This record gives sequence, structure tokens and C-alpha cells, in this order.
Amino acid sequence: MEPQPMRHLETRLVHAGEPRPRIGGAVVMPIFQSATYVHSGDLSYHDVRYIRLNNTPNFVALTAKLAALENGEAALVAASGMAAISAALLTVLRSGDHLLANDSLYGGTHNFITEDLESFGIQYSFFHGDAPEAWKKELRPNTKAIYVETITNPLMRVPNLPAVVKFAKTHGLLSLIDNTFATPVNYRPLDEGFDLVLHSCTKYLNGHTDIVAGTAIGPAGLVERIRHRLNHLGGALDPHACFLLHRGLKTLAVRLRHQNESALRIARFLESHAAVEAVNYPGLERHPQHERARSIFRGFGGMLSFELPGGVAQADRFIGSLTLPLSAPSLGGPETLITRPAATSHAGIGPEERRRLGISDGLIRLSVGLEATEDLIEDLDRALQATR
Ligand SMILES: *Cc1c(COP(=O)(O)O)cnc(C)c1O
Repeated sequence: MEPQPMRHLETRLVHAGEPRPRIGGAVVMPIFQSATYVHSGDLSYHDVRYIRLNNTPNFVALTAKLAALENGEAALVAASGMAAISAALLTVLRSGDHLLANDSLYGGTHNFITEDLESFGIQYSFFHGDAPEAWKKELRPNTKAIYVETITNPLMRVPNLPAVVKFAKTHGLLSLIDNTFATPVNYRPLDEGFDLVLHSCTKYLNGHTDIVAGTAIGPAGLVERIRHRLNHLGGALDPHACFLLHRGLKTLAVRLRHQNESALRIARFLESHAAVEAVNYPGLERHPQHERARSIFRGFGGMLSFELPGGVAQADRFIGSLTLPLSAPSLGGPETLITRPAATSHAGIGPEERRRLGISDGLIRLSVGLEATEDLIEDLDRALQATR
């Protein structure tokens, strides 16, 4: 029996999914490092207890916790965010179907859609997140699903999410959302009418930059179909990684609260700095979707991007002269990470497409970690003075 009451996310992060009574009295869920389990009269292949089949004790506890965070009926975990995303898309779409996808997506997802879906006989087209009146033109008789991210990378735009839900319901589409950047602390898509939530748990949910993992959360029937497909594809998460993700989740709310606050202060600092040209952060009044972000999010997240007047050359000198942020891709961990997306996450999409999306070559992206905000601001300020 789950303890009551668990109305608040903070309580669910700590207590949801934990075994009752505790296994051997252990307060913390132990690691079950066993590939297979003694046969217990299982009905089908997918019920045999085996690590790849997503059903050993570490999966059971972890997925119950993940489901509770997003207020979903069920969840699965996968070997990476991309394993969860690809398995989900290959479950809801079949040969002959059409997908409507937002035109600004995580690079891996964008590439999976544009380079792989066609070989499965699945068509796609892209829509602009801010122009619901134009979406209908992209509809086809075989459109099955619509796919979006809560906050886009690296410009931190906020698509018209309420309109996406309404559009999906009006036209009978399944709505999928990658909620990695917002996390359930700041936005819970299932409560707002989305059908399926996806995460790269590599980022905030684990929060410690030490594993790669993914999840899909939603109605039990749909999650079960995706798990079935994932069992065949083989992208299972190892029990030790399950344990680390399970542990990381318990502190998600306190981490995110600090990151929400710290990123907003850093965004304000950069915005008011004479040596900074532009700052992209949904918490700033000047952000093009600030009003929307304010009305649908509880916080604006730990990700921001900005531009310096000196373009690529100055950006690289600036990044090189910082002492706290590490120059590395990925995000959501305790260490503040800094990248130039044109050279890392968005190198694959080509200069033409980047320009069309408004991603300049000198754009700098910052994943605000858990350091003291004052120390980060001091370091940023010093590097700005040194390289202007
Ligand atoms: C990192 C990321 C992914 C991919 O996750 P992996 O764990 O690296 O496979 C998907 N979506 C978003 C928004 C991401 O940031």
C-alpha cells in the first residue's frame, strides 16, 4: 500500500514506489543485480522476469515512482532518452502513418524523424510551435500523432502547448511531449491533456551527470504497448543505472528549485550586462513567450542561452576563460555546463538550417548547475570583462 497523503510532488519523489514493507528492512531500495529470476508460472514471454523485459524489482519500484511524478498510470524506463523516444514513436506510428512534429526538436529526435522514419514507411512534416492557425494545413488523412518539446533547445522557446493539446483532441491525434527541459517540477503535461510524456532521464531526473536513461509515462495500455516494443528492440536499463536514477529522483524538487532561481538571476545579470547582446530565457519579461510560460509553468528551468557581439571568436574566448562552467554538451547536472550549440548539439543540422531556425554560430548555451549563484555570476562577469 502506498502511504497517504502524497498530494505533493516532493513527497512522491521520496516515497512513491518504495517497497512496503521494506525489503530486508532496508530503507533504500537495494540493487537486484540478477539477469534472470526463478520461474513463477509466467503467462507470456513478456512476463518472464528478465532485465531486458523491464520487470525486475528495480524496474518495478522505479517505474512506480516515475509514473507518480507525472501523474501517469504507468511508466517504463529505457537505456537512454532516445531509446524511449524511438520506441514510443515506433509504437504509436506504423507503416502508412504520418507524424506532425515541432520544427525545433532535440538533435537526436530530429535526426530519427528525418533519417529513420521513412525506412519504416512513416511520413512526417514539421509545424511552427507558435502558429496554430497554420497547423491544419499540415494535417493529412493519415496523421496519427503530434510531437513537441516543452521548451526548445537552444533558443528556449515555449511552443503553444495548450493549443497543441486542443488541436490533438479536435483531430483525434495522439499527443507526445518531451518534458526533459521543464521536468514535472515545472510542468506536468498529462495533467494538461497530453497523452504521453517522454524524458531523457540523463538530464534533470537523474541529475548527477553519471548515467544515460529514458522514460515514457502515460496511460497503462499505451505504456504497455511501448514496453512490448522496447522488449523486442532491447534498449533495457541496467539495474545499477536504475538504482542511480531512483536515488537521483529523490532530490529532483530541491535541485530544480535552486536551478529555477539561479538561472533566473543569471539571466537577469546577463540581460543587464553591457557586454551581452541577447539572452534567451522564458523567465525574462522580454522573452517572446514569457506570458505563456508564466501562465503554464511553475518555474522556468535551469537552461538559458545568450549571444555576445563578437560572434564565434568572442564566444570561444569567453568559454575558454571561464573557470567554473565546464565546456561540455548535455545538461541538468550539478556542474554548470557551457556549450556553443553550432559546434556541438546542432553541428549536424547544417549552417543554412541553423540560420533558418535563428541559431547563430556564436550562440552560447548554459546549463545552470547547483553551485552558488554568486560564484557563477562572478566568474561570468570576469570572463566577460576579459574578452570584450
Ligand atoms: C538529451 C535529450 C534527449 C536524448 O536523451 P539521451 O538520454 O541522450 O538519449 C532527448 N530530448 C531532449 C530534450 C534532450 O535534452
